[in-house]
Amino acid sequence: MKLCETFRSIQGELQGIGRQAFFIRTHGCNLGNKCTVDCDTRYSWDEALGAMSFDKTVAELDAEIVASGVDAVVITGGEPLLQQGDIVDLVRRIHGIDWFIETNGTIAPVEALHENDRVYFNVSPKLASFNPGPFPLERSIFKHVVTPRIDVFLSWELRIASMPAAIKHRTYFMPASRTREQYSRTLPPSRLGATSTASTSARGAYGRLRGQARSLIPLNSSSSMTYQNE
Ligand code: SF4
Repeated sequence: MKLCETFRSIQGELQGIGRQAFFIRTHGCNLGNKCTVDCDTRYSWDEALGAMSFDKTVAELDAEIVASGVDAVVITGGEPLLQQGDIVDLVRRIHGIDWFIETNGTIAPVEALHENDRVYFNVSPKLASFNPGPFPLERSIFKHVVTPRIDVFLSWELRIASMPAAIKHRTYFMPASRTREQYSRTLPPSRLGATSTASTSARGAYGRLRGQARSLIPLNSSSSMTYQNE
């Protein structure tokens, strides 16, 4: 597989949160500069920035995971489903652990991943054309990164409003912030100043979304706040 990094840490979000896990960050992303958020892992795909990249065989990864002693693996990126053939091989080799795949939602999982009840999908859609259909609903969570781009925000609001309740109930919003200060600034109404031309409709949209949202980061959290896009 073409990788960016591997490490052991604690899963910090969505399904698997709080679990000791072996992380596999794959190299490469099919969205790259077309992505609608400020990517915090450009080092996994942006060749112009000298993206990190090395190869490991599935057998080598198998040995590392077993040696780590954890019972959870997070496969993130970049976009890991670009290499889902190798992911299938890896999942088939190791039994008794849970797999959490973090994806931008543009690539449908193959049947072997769709049907494996130890494989979970933490989906962070980045395109308005996102369709949750290909993902197994009972093992998927949909996380929308809330950015200051109101056009993106409004399109999500409209899309999500028309989705079935079962999908809405598995949908989260996450402020795009790396520090507590950025987090505060991203939230309305302070992010949208009174002079903003979009202020009235935008504030209303933000307000409604906040009402729906179950933010992954508590408003009163005192911890430092970072997030992974996928
Ligand atoms: S945020 Fe995710 S989908 Fe967007 S460019 Fe970064 S790795 Fe790719």
